[in-house]
Amino acid sequence: MTTHEIEPLFRTACELAVRYRTGAPNRPPRAAAVDQEAYAGFAGPVPESGEAAITTLTALAAAAGPGLHDTTGDRFFGWIIGASHPVGVAADWLTSTWGQNPGLHFSGPAGAAAEKVAGDWLLDLLDLPREASVGFVTGATMANFTGLAAGRSEVLRRVGWDVEADGLQGAPRVRVLLGEAAHSTVFAALRYLGFGRNQIETVEADANGIMDADDLGRRLSAGGPALVVAQAGQINTGGFDPFEEIAAHCRRAGAWLHVDGAFGLWARACPDRYRLTRGLELADSWASDAHKWLQAPYESGFVIVRDRAVHRRAMSISASYLPSQDWCHNPADFSPELSRRARGFAIWALLKHLGRDGIADMVSRHCALARRIAARLARVPGIRVLNDVVLNQLVVTFGEGPHGDRMTREVIEEIQRRNAVFVEGARWQGREVVRISVISAPLNGTSADRLCEEILAAWQTVEARQTAAVPAQ
Ligand SMILES: *Cc1c(COP(=O)(O)O)cnc(C)c1O
Repeated sequence: MTTHEIEPLFRTACELAVRYRTGAPNRPPRAAAVDQEAYAGFAGPVPESGEAAITTLTALAAAAGPGLHDTTGDRFFGWIIGASHPVGVAADWLTSTWGQNPGLHFSGPAGAAAEKVAGDWLLDLLDLPREASVGFVTGATMANFTGLAAGRSEVLRRVGWDVEADGLQGAPRVRVLLGEAAHSTVFAALRYLGFGRNQIETVEADANGIMDADDLGRRLSAGGPALVVAQAGQINTGGFDPFEEIAAHCRRAGAWLHVDGAFGLWARACPDRYRLTRGLELADSWASDAHKWLQAPYESGFVIVRDRAVHRRAMSISASYLPSQDWCHNPADFSPELSRRARGFAIWALLKHLGRDGIADMVSRHCALARRIAARLARVPGIRVLNDVVLNQLVVTFGEGPHGDRMTREVIEEIQRRNAVFVEGARWQGREVVRISVISAPLNGTSADRLCEEILAAWQTVEARQTAAVPAQ
């Protein structure tokens, strides 16, 4: 493309972006086109010959529009999804514009340097060992994978087995223990590492999804190479495992302790939530996401490993055409990929823009909003908040007895039909529940009140329908 063609194309992209992010404050949060309808704008035969760049770009925006959930607005409480902060988005445009490959310092000096500095800043903000290494990955799934790969390598090395050289087949058995309420992606990460679902031992958890440390201690007493996965921020309840006790058991047994803190790790950046994470710093590795509480655009996860040499042993890639410069930071030594997006630019920009105070205030505000929503809903007969709201997550049921699950599902349908706010459901402790996540940057008191009003209106509708269906005795 020539300079003449690039300019109007980039201006069009900018205009489309500005219109999307500023033009529709009352846009319904749920996509208009879901399921098969989401395909409509994209479907068609393979393009045989090309077309003008701007035509393609406007066609993309038109095709995507109806199928976009408004996750960046102030009405979205579904799932744990950050809001792609404008500063991160703008940094991301530049990242794509520059086309850097930060795998090695040699191939992308600025990208590698931004990751090193952003990584050091994260260690400080999250108050984790300053000498630890940080790897930037797509999300917490791969961050869990990387932390557990380091753990697998180290617990096997301690019994004289080199998994990097000799693989897993024929290796001494490695036990894997995690809480019953662990996130599904931890099981996926373990599967990629050679640990099948039936080989994982689940440790009892309480009604908040918190691991029973005594049960873990009993199980670990048998000894042998072991990986333990604890969590900071259970996906439904936001609960935190008792890290101090868990870490003591792991230390005694020589087990590797990994913490899945996809969103909950950010509690450490917030003075009024910090206490929830006590003992978390005693772990060996930690996984988190920048595309959740830091509001970075996707894809943005990171892994932290206490022992840099172990991290590097598990992940480094070398080839004769890739010069190794030992004096500098080569990001590919700390993540499973070689060529990839320069993720450090957006994270660096967001950390600089928000600052320590801005991050702490946002996390604190979200948690306060979650408590406010819980207090308001819990006052209403028929509505129960099942979890202890320690963070940003709520788990709510509607109606009791044999119709409770159906009524809860109907409340979700009614909220989504009204489409003024967005929430989704899950199964938790044997019940259908509404899950509410307060994690998106634009959420404030007004959006929390709107959420409550919408939920109460939906509950009234469902309850009235139920009363009409079941005549009073
Ligand atoms: C979101 C989440 C994950 C998975 O992270 P991705 O970024 O989707 O890969 C893992 N664990 C927990 C607790 C999560 O909230």
